[in-house]
Amino acid sequence: MAQEDVFKKIVSHCKEYGFVFPSSEIYDGLAAVYDYGQNGVELKNNIKEYWWKSMVLLHENIVGIDSAIFMHPTIWKASGHVDAFNDPLIDNRDSKKRYRADVLIEDQIAKYDEKIEKEIAKARKRFGDSFDEAQFRATNGRVLEHQQKRDALHERYTEAMQGPDLAELKQIIEDEGIVDPISGTKNWTDVRQFNLMFSTEMGSVADGTNKIYLRPETAQGIFVNYLNVQKTGRMKIPFGIAQIGKAFRNEIVARQFIFRMREFEQMEMQFFVQPGTEIEYFKKWKELRMKWHQALGFGAENYRFHDHEKLAHYANAATDIEFKMPFGFKEVEGVHSRTNFDLSQHEKFSGRSIKYFDPQTKESYTPYVIETSIGVDRMFLSVMCHSYREEQLENGETRVVLLLPPALAPTKLAVLPLVKKDGLPEKAREIVNDLKFHFNTHYDEKDTIGKRYRRQDAIGTPYCVTVDYDTLKDNTVTLRFRDTMEQERVSIDQLRDIIEDKVSITSLLKKLQ
Ligand code: ATP
Repeated sequence: MAQEDVFKKIVSHCKEYGFVFPSSEIYDGLAAVYDYGQNGVELKNNIKEYWWKSMVLLHENIVGIDSAIFMHPTIWKASGHVDAFNDPLIDNRDSKKRYRADVLIEDQIAKYDEKIEKEIAKARKRFGDSFDEAQFRATNGRVLEHQQKRDALHERYTEAMQGPDLAELKQIIEDEGIVDPISGTKNWTDVRQFNLMFSTEMGSVADGTNKIYLRPETAQGIFVNYLNVQKTGRMKIPFGIAQIGKAFRNEIVARQFIFRMREFEQMEMQFFVQPGTEIEYFKKWKELRMKWHQALGFGAENYRFHDHEKLAHYANAATDIEFKMPFGFKEVEGVHSRTNFDLSQHEKFSGRSIKYFDPQTKESYTPYVIETSIGVDRMFLSVMCHSYREEQLENGETRVVLLLPPALAPTKLAVLPLVKKDGLPEKAREIVNDLKFHFNTHYDEKDTIGKRYRRQDAIGTPYCVTVDYDTLKDNTVTLRFRDTMEQERVSIDQLRDIIEDKVSITSLLKKLQ
């Protein structure tokens, strides 16, 4: 099946099974805004719990906060968002569609990469075990040609983005012959800048209102509170502050479902270090964050780092952790070494000293910051994309199953009475009432057992138990495993022991030690 079709299926599966709904659907929706349904919210909460605990539980020197979405408007002046949080946009006159000029060019770069990968895949097939990829890359004429075009484009593009030089961005689009995917034409307008922040007004008196912004990132709430936390928590550098919260960006092109939303959620951690030690900590956090992703068991080959070659003026190292989505490798998380840019700016704009006093050296300094920043919704999408499977069964049927990591699954156990009579529902409810205190346990009696299994497979429930007539005699149930569909007869007393550990967030956290 083409990857585009797989993605369409995942999107409709999310809706059909109560994971993600378009916002305001009965009013025809609101572009790039989504609601999480009864199963989606559980999965999302589990992702957040995994992240939060991995930060504040596993690190003695990381604590959390929850800062307000509304903040003093000068914060966004200081952080540079008022002046520079812009995307370059371009319109196609024929389709009347709007695009991000940088994304059009990045997609073009990715096309060269795809061409190279195709050549490599073909050669690997031809040469089999004796294939030497490095040598092939260095000597094959077609690969070298694509690589050279790709590198030249990449260099020209990063240069143009520095200013940014809007006329040059347009020129690149023209020179590369990039066409609008909808109209197929090159009838482009000039490139213009567009600020991504949403604004609103605070205060009730018309002439006394203040323009304020909906935060486009949670990080600034951490920066402006860092000294409060340091002092009240008696934190010593190095230490970190973690936060999970909503962020808002008026994205020009909202594409790919919950990958790019206008209201989304971030999980950010700012780690404050002594100047001069930041690269050491940057490397450490890069490694730790990759480990966090890989502990989910999706396969190391589905992740890669994308190190930034040209850096923002305030950063001295930056990388993205990319995950292989059905539409290619895409950024899920950023790890950035942001120097002391943000804290210094807040000192300048607020007029207050927010320096750290080092009790050992008796020196005061503005700490440097390593930031890890991950989108909850992009993480959710990567989990969904990796877990969605359509399996051909031996009897010719197709089974749709979500192979979610058990610790993230919305429901851990479904308890199913074989029939709706003869005391079986009561017995099943007894099991639910006992186990619901330990993990998310659901009761389901509608439809045949086969249909109920399918329903649980489709929402990723790792375990089902069936209560039958024998249960009433010997207190045993049939335990069915989602991944293998194997069934085993076990005693009700054993259920908690078999299941609890495997479905707990602790099981994931232990892999990080
Ligand atoms: P992109 O280049 O894709 O716009 P970004 O580099 O601007 O992303 P950051 O500002 O580094 O993103 O934000 C950190 C994380 O927040 C991203 O890695 C992503 O997971 C998430 N994120 C950013 N923008 C959005 C959005 N519009 N919708 C959903 N998640 C987002």
